[in-house]
Amino acid sequence: MGLLIVGSIALDSVETPFDKVENALGGSTTYISLASSYFTYPIHIVGVVGEDFPAEYIEMLENHEIDTEGLQIIPGGKTFRWGGRYHYDLNVRDTLFTDLNVFENFDPIIPEKSKKNSFVLLGNIVPSLQNKVLDQLENPKFVVCDTMNLWIETTKDDLLDVLKRVDVLIINDSEARLLSNEPNLIKAAKIIQTLGPKYLIIKKGEHGALLFNDTTIFSAPAYPLENIYDPTGAGDSFAGGFIGYLHQTRDLSFENLKRAVIYGSALASFCVEQFSTKGIEYLDKLQIHDRFLEFRELSRFDDDE
Ligand code: AMP
Repeated sequence: MGLLIVGSIALDSVETPFDKVENALGGSTTYISLASSYFTYPIHIVGVVGEDFPAEYIEMLENHEIDTEGLQIIPGGKTFRWGGRYHYDLNVRDTLFTDLNVFENFDPIIPEKSKKNSFVLLGNIVPSLQNKVLDQLENPKFVVCDTMNLWIETTKDDLLDVLKRVDVLIINDSEARLLSNEPNLIKAAKIIQTLGPKYLIIKKGEHGALLFNDTTIFSAPAYPLENIYDPTGAGDSFAGGFIGYLHQTRDLSFENLKRAVIYGSALASFCVEQFSTKGIEYLDKLQIHDRFLEFRELSRFDDDE
């Protein structure tokens, strides 16, 4: 039973108040698969790049034991490019450009070996393609989905169809408000859960994340980092750590989902410490576990008896 990841693979040009990079490795699939590779195996990615995509990036993914059979390389095509600029307040980001290139005609074809019984992470792509992925699967074991404000605003009906078919939706606070038309996040979560997902995760950037089931809320802190260099991919790294841990443990209880949220938060915290994917390329399991324990200490307190 593998872990299937479908989303974007990109060359990103990113500016922060500290530095900038051009054509660095990015895309949701890239961050998700790298983050999950520290927990589990086999991981199958499905995506598209152009002929200009550096072979060394594919090699790096394969060195993390990520199966790239589902990666389509379009002869003569140009890879999807995205440009973003962060403000002094790193929570604020402007998209400078989105050049879809080969991504415009992306037709996700799921290899035979990933069609049955998979854990699935639907990265942030147009919801009609997320539906197309699900249509090809037989008896998926656990489906986690990410999305963004663009799809909530422009293709809401397709997104609502996807939501009926997923176990977990991961979104950020502003997306939750937009999707539910409700400013209060607790009320927003209740509304979103009526749309399909059994569990909902609302990420709140530097203020942590909330995990909801139908009766309980778990609040995870964010790791208090002094040096944040590039927030790009934090949400995807979170999703990768989350599903990677669940796929490793095969335990879908709410208690284990809480641990998965903390592992997701740990991977997100490593991601933002460096530009592009550098922060999650060279980790080891011990480092990740140590950060998991630090998270526990962050909000542990005793009662007064
Ligand atoms: P995040 O910081 O988690 O929102 O993810 C950033 C990644 O999303 C970047 O590496 C981009 O390449 C990718 N990205 C940006 N816009 C889109 C889009 N419209 N569709 C798919 N991926 C995108």
